Amino acid sequence: MKTYDDENIFAKILRNEIPCFKIYEDNTTFCFMDIMPRSDGHCLVIPKSPCRNILDASDAQLAAVMATVKKVANAATVAFNADGITVQQFNETAGGQEVFHLHFHIHPRHKGIPMRAAGCMGDMDKIKQHAEQIAAVLN
Ligand code: 5GP
Repeated sequence: MKTYDDENIFAKILRNEIPCFKIYEDNTTFCFMDIMPRSDGHCLVIPKSPCRNILDASDAQLAAVMATVKKVANAATVAFNADGITVQQFNETAGGQEVFHLHFHIHPRHKGIPMRAAGCMGDMDKIKQHAEQIAAVLN
């Protein structure tokens, strides 16, 4: 099994070495906006402790992350008046993973509106505003 590399971008975000638009944190999990949003409100939930993905995560890490996914998904539903939520999670390169720190994508969805293509940098002002919309429901 491949080992965790603590120079990955999400580890740097957790250490405050690079900025992010934070939505929520508790003792064990952290939630922030994806900077290449495939939907308005596209955000990521990660554990604060290291693991690459679900293949090496402990049951405790997964349980903690899923509880935060549920919390943020409900808040995003309210914040965006969404009709539904898509949760995505990828494991290893062949599984579509690009950043090797466990993360779940949360996408607010509206009927008839497809997700955007991956890999396009978003508008930072909009992303900031979307983070604030979700955080406002949580607080
Ligand atoms: P995955 O590993 O599941 O394919 O996706 C990694 C996600 O991380 C992508 O959706 C990408 O847009 C996002 N991402 C990549 N670099 C950064 C970054 O520096 N900051 C944030 N907030 N998201 C990032």
